[in-house]
Amino acid sequence: WVAWTAAATVLLAAGGCDSGTTAAAPVVERGTVGLAMPTKESERWIGDGENMVKQFELLGYRTDMQYADDDVQLQVQQIDEMVENKVRALVIGAIDGTALKGVLAKAAAADIPVISYDRLIRDSGDVDFYATFDNFKVGVEQASALVDALGVRTGKGSFHLELFAGSPDDNNATFFFNGAMSVLKPYISSGRLRVRSGETTFAQVATMRWDAAVARERMTRLLGSDYGQARVDAILSPYDGISRGILAALEEDGYGSKGRKLPVITGQDAELDSVKLIAAGKQTETVYKDTRELAKVAVQMTNALLTDGEPMVNDTKQYHNGVEIVPTFLLQPVNVDRSNYERVLVDGGYYTAAQIAS
Ligand code: BGC
Repeated sequence: WVAWTAAATVLLAAGGCDSGTTAAAPVVERGTVGLAMPTKESERWIGDGENMVKQFELLGYRTDMQYADDDVQLQVQQIDEMVENKVRALVIGAIDGTALKGVLAKAAAADIPVISYDRLIRDSGDVDFYATFDNFKVGVEQASALVDALGVRTGKGSFHLELFAGSPDDNNATFFFNGAMSVLKPYISSGRLRVRSGETTFAQVATMRWDAAVARERMTRLLGSDYGQARVDAILSPYDGISRGILAALEEDGYGSKGRKLPVITGQDAELDSVKLIAAGKQTETVYKDTRELAKVAVQMTNALLTDGEPMVNDTKQYHNGVEIVPTFLLQPVNVDRSNYERVLVDGGYYTAAQIAS
């Protein structure tokens, strides 16, 4: 593949395309956009990537999409190659939000704009725009669903809660955790929610690289060291993959059988496997973030930057990346549980009923 030169792109974008060349070529060829995605381990990122590719192609862009297997150095290398190949813009779902400063300086020197996708890229002055969901609200939704399912807002008695958070190198993880703690803290302080492990700080409950196996091990450790005959009533989990790891540890311990009820457990992303668990009554809720909508925002921002348009922005306050505030578009997350998953996910066209039932 030879990258389009800027001159050719301008010419073609202006309508100077020889439509008689190849049958498959779009009428307007706008050059290549580099899409750097973190991992295929989690379903959502696959959807994010596919949605962006589709939407960029409809506008006449080619895409160079790379997944980095959650390997930070590999992601840096992939972005570096995209810069070398003179992509017109970069859309990046970072693995380690603090590791891209060097390669983004190189992109800036080559006049390649950068969109931070879903996760904020930190410590760099070369991030142009940020497309994401309201990350604080994700945590608020999780914790609200948790306290409602337990009945903590009303009634009496206390419940045992354990907390899990996401990856410390992902800026979103602290937003999710702080959002959740804004709801949970008053109940923890009043003693209505008790964390028997005593592990309540972000550092104590974080899960490196969002790894389900790491979370499963921690859950097993907590059940062994802090529970004995006591029962854990609720788990704050930041992401569906982690929730499934935690559920595996709980089931191994006997929860979910012989009258031992599974605790309330939260999640995020509406991954198919977790939606099935919600339908089966094993996972309490998930926070649905429609990746089709996020892709639309990122594509709109990129296209606007490349065509002298106005990238859409609705927040210019919350997301300081350590160097500057990055103008952001925030989408709204939606709480999904057994009562509304069909309406939101099936009627909304995210999954078919058959996928969930299979
Ligand atoms: C995303 C979440 C996702 C998590 C793990 C976060 O940055 O915002 O949607 O659950 O990464 O992939």
